Amino acid sequence: MIAVLKDVLRCGSRVARISLICAVGLALVSAGCRGAGDTSSRPDVVAAFYPLAFLAEQVLGEEGTVRNLTPAGAEPHDLELSPRDVADVRAAGTVLYLGGGFMPALERALEGRRGASVDVLAGVRLRRDGDPHVWLDPRAFADMARRVGRDLGRPARGADLARRLLALDADFARGLAACDRHELVTSHAAFGYLADRYGLEQLALVGIAPETEPSAREVAALVRRVRATGATTVFTEPLVSPRLADTVAREAGIRTATLDPIEGLSQERLAAGADYVSVMRQNLASLRTALGCR
Ligand SMILES: [Zn+2]
Repeated sequence: MIAVLKDVLRCGSRVARISLICAVGLALVSAGCRGAGDTSSRPDVVAAFYPLAFLAEQVLGEEGTVRNLTPAGAEPHDLELSPRDVADVRAAGTVLYLGGGFMPALERALEGRRGASVDVLAGVRLRRDGDPHVWLDPRAFADMARRVGRDLGRPARGADLARRLLALDADFARGLAACDRHELVTSHAAFGYLADRYGLEQLALVGIAPETEPSAREVAALVRRVRATGATTVFTEPLVSPRLADTVAREAGIRTATLDPIEGLSQERLAAGADYVSVMRQNLASLRTALGCR
């Protein structure tokens, strides 16, 4: 089962993997500089990756510290943990994570922990393929916000955040209600929940073609699949190499645009004030253009 899930969750191209390894390497170096033995700065909440850190930060506000285990700009699938990460996971008041094999190293580090560990996927109805990208459905993410609010002892703040996410959901539903097309050509298969929620059809390039260097024949087959959908856009992602998407789009004679699965935001975007809600609004605008929505 885990092997199947790992296969489903396998993300990105070799280039993205190399950049992830570099990002993790940098994180290890900087963790070493800060000193893994320093207990004075232990976070109240350790979150597995950006969307969960966003929930915790919104719920806690100034009243607690949140550490995101996935370095800014890195991709969380199969993240490895540094000694400092493991120490923080052991010492944090609460750990928020996604179970089901999304981050096996983190699940291993949780064994033997005494504090609360919250699998925010527990109780969420998953797609049959085991797809973990639930946070891209704002309505399901609102449920997760309420849950994190309760688990962190601040149910009212969780409910406030859930209301904002439901407003976002309403904007998506309205914005995607009348469109010329419904086909969503993406890099990796991250948008299944979003597609289900708003009546779209996802075709993911990775998962159909092998991760590394598809042959000319495999690319030609992808181009035929993409042409058959009538799509005008191949969506790329900030953390995945656009090479395959660029090639397919060029050969199919259509354009590319960015659709962000919000697995991690770069330091620059965080510094510029981007967050889950603002990036989702950009996603909605990109979708409305690509799908010809009125
Ligand atoms: Zn993913």
